Amino acid sequence: MTPQPARSATALTLTPRAASLARKGQLWFYADDVDPPLSADTAPSLVRLADHEGRDLGLALCSPRSKLCFRRCGRWPGEGVPSPAEFLRARLAAAIAARAALASPEGGVRLVHGEADELPGLVVDRFADCLVVQLGTAPLEAMCADLVEVLESLCAPRMILARNDLAVRRFEGLDQTVRLLSGRRVEELEIVEAGLRHPVRPFDGHKTGFYLDQAPARAYVRAHARGRRVLDAFAYQCGFALSALAGGARDALAIDESAPALERARATAAANGLGGLETVTANAFQHLRELRQAGRAFELVVVDPPAFAKSRRELEGGLRGYRDLNRLALRVLAPGGLMLTCSCSHHVSLPHFEDVLRQAAADLPFRVLLRARLGAGPDHPVAITAPESEYLKVLVVERAG
Ligand code: SAH
Repeated sequence: MTPQPARSATALTLTPRAASLARKGQLWFYADDVDPPLSADTAPSLVRLADHEGRDLGLALCSPRSKLCFRRCGRWPGEGVPSPAEFLRARLAAAIAARAALASPEGGVRLVHGEADELPGLVVDRFADCLVVQLGTAPLEAMCADLVEVLESLCAPRMILARNDLAVRRFEGLDQTVRLLSGRRVEELEIVEAGLRHPVRPFDGHKTGFYLDQAPARAYVRAHARGRRVLDAFAYQCGFALSALAGGARDALAIDESAPALERARATAAANGLGGLETVTANAFQHLRELRQAGRAFELVVVDPPAFAKSRRELEGGLRGYRDLNRLALRVLAPGGLMLTCSCSHHVSLPHFEDVLRQAAADLPFRVLLRARLGAGPDHPVAITAPESEYLKVLVVERAG
């Protein structure tokens, strides 16, 4: 390998061990991975990293107060560090261009997905002409004004909202707030997905206002719904039930413990001219038991609960929860029926989740076949060097007929 020229003295030097990990693709580093150490008054900022021989290792976002002090964010020509505006403009333009073919102007799409877009800690979702951002780290927070300016010039949005009510911000010494960054307050708007209109609530909806990540699973449900009786458990605004009805399902029963979410779903069904939606405000575990006792069966079942394992400590309990839930759901699956089951827990890997399904199916008196593995769509790319950002697992299984 030809040695690269030595870099400017402004670059921070990674220890030989850390530099070797960086060369193998590691993206995150701790404060003691640089030598000499950061000075105490370092502000959250963009920095350049180099190895002890001065070879360039690209840019990083530096969070001096966080345990995860450096998050690498790709190469940059030359030797210095670009201005935040220059850096953001280049990264955002590339991320937006990569999604050009993925959504219509009235649709919803994730424009920036953190690490995979070399913007670690940043999420930008577009819902029609509104943008919702999440700034997960101190250096991003410090660049917020530049971010707004660049997004305004690239997208001309009606509103930019920061949904910074993110637990991870605590580790960065940042507050958890929802803040209008530009434009006028838009409490609710509509996006169109495959001809279906869905309501989005940027200020108080789940995540950034809508589950964009489940678009491929909604498409799958729609494509497999014709003539089927559908059960949508943990339905929220019934994204799945409505997609099934749009795909010709015979009817759909949706369960959620949130009455307002179900009320919005019924209004959405009416607005889209879809009949056949029944909703139940209930604990899904309890209601699945009652359906089973009543001898009910469904030909298409969707199970999309909130994350049961929010931390590594909760993993074991979470896996038990998934197993019990999936066993209950399999018991109301009609012969030949399909079940689409999801886990959005970061700490539950795909092998974990498949194991859970295996256990759930093991003592049932019928065969369960794995039909498909789905996940988030191409607007939620996963950097091969950041496998932990692949959080959504969706398995489709079939009860043998
Ligand atoms: N499937 C939805 C997203 C589900 S989010 C979609 O695609 O849009 C998880 C939902 O589970 C939330 O709406 C929450 O209200 C609901 N929920 C959480 N615990 C529940 C429980 N024990 N019983 C019923 N619903 C529950």
